[in-house]
Amino acid sequence: MPTAHASIPQIRLKDGRSIPQLGYGTLAVQPDRETNEHNAQVTAQIVSQALEAGYRHIDTAQAYGTELGVGRALAAAGIQRDELYITSKLANANHAPEHLRRSFETTLDRLGLEQLDLFLIHWPLPTLYGGDYVSTWRTLTELVAEGRLRSAGVSNFEPAHLERIIEATGVVPAVNQFEIHPYFSNAATRDACGRYGIAVEAHSPLGHNGKPLTDHTITQIAASQEKTVAQVILRWHIQHGIIAIPKSSRPERMVENINVFDFELTAAQMAEIDALDQGPEGRVGPNPETYEGV
Ligand code: NDP
Repeated sequence: MPTAHASIPQIRLKDGRSIPQLGYGTLAVQPDRETNEHNAQVTAQIVSQALEAGYRHIDTAQAYGTELGVGRALAAAGIQRDELYITSKLANANHAPEHLRRSFETTLDRLGLEQLDLFLIHWPLPTLYGGDYVSTWRTLTELVAEGRLRSAGVSNFEPAHLERIIEATGVVPAVNQFEIHPYFSNAATRDACGRYGIAVEAHSPLGHNGKPLTDHTITQIAASQEKTVAQVILRWHIQHGIIAIPKSSRPERMVENINVFDFELTAAQMAEIDALDQGPEGRVGPNPETYEGV
């Protein structure tokens, strides 16, 4: 019955494909990052609720351990393949070309898909693999040419990382997914994406740790719009042309977060939220220049 997905705009990518501007994030929807039967059941149930709420764009990753559960939910839902948009990401342990290829096959198997919509290098890891994320990028783009992948992208790439892969390969990522929320608007990376025509996708769009959700300024804007703080933050992303993938394990919040297409923030309200940016101090996730984790 829910038709929320019908109102979600599509963002046109540089490679000619399109991505729904709002999606559902699956980081930490299960108790831990292991791929096992229990976790698959937990994630399948939660992602089924997200599909029920109207989400058609699902964000997973090899590192989250959620691909199997996402695949189960997709199989159970019986939604036509061309209505779905599925993103996964290459785990940091799999950057070597042969590991990338093998793990991509596992990703497709777990998701139960013949083709993935978007595959991202999860982190650039400039301090690992001898600093060679260029070969990783080249190998990932080969999957598109081979027909198993629709769009190739990156995640957590800073302007210098983008410049390096584009200069070395001539291939521009379709998407860069990186941390953006009102306390860390990440202007430099957004500007670099704009210069190259790379679609900007926000991870942790609500701020990950809940802090922007209690912000005084945004709370006042929400009251005047008769919307929730989460809806105002997501609307701020949408009006900036940013793709957003909020995570919630609660069905009522899944519904709340997808219903952001029936109101508009004024230019003054957008400027007030823009002014909350704390620069690098506002970052809550790892710094891509130094991150070496999973
Ligand atoms: P979000 O910014 O989406 O915030 C999630 C938190 O906000 C959860 O604690 C959630 O709690 C709470 N929340 C969600 N909706 C509401 C609401 N309407 N009202 C109040 N609280 C709410 O954080 P994430 O870090 O999860 O980012 C979203 C997605 O981005 C991830 O799931 C993942 O797919 C992706 N991501 C990618 C990264 C990368 O390196 N590429 C890094 C981090 C995230 P509850 O579940 O209890 O509702």
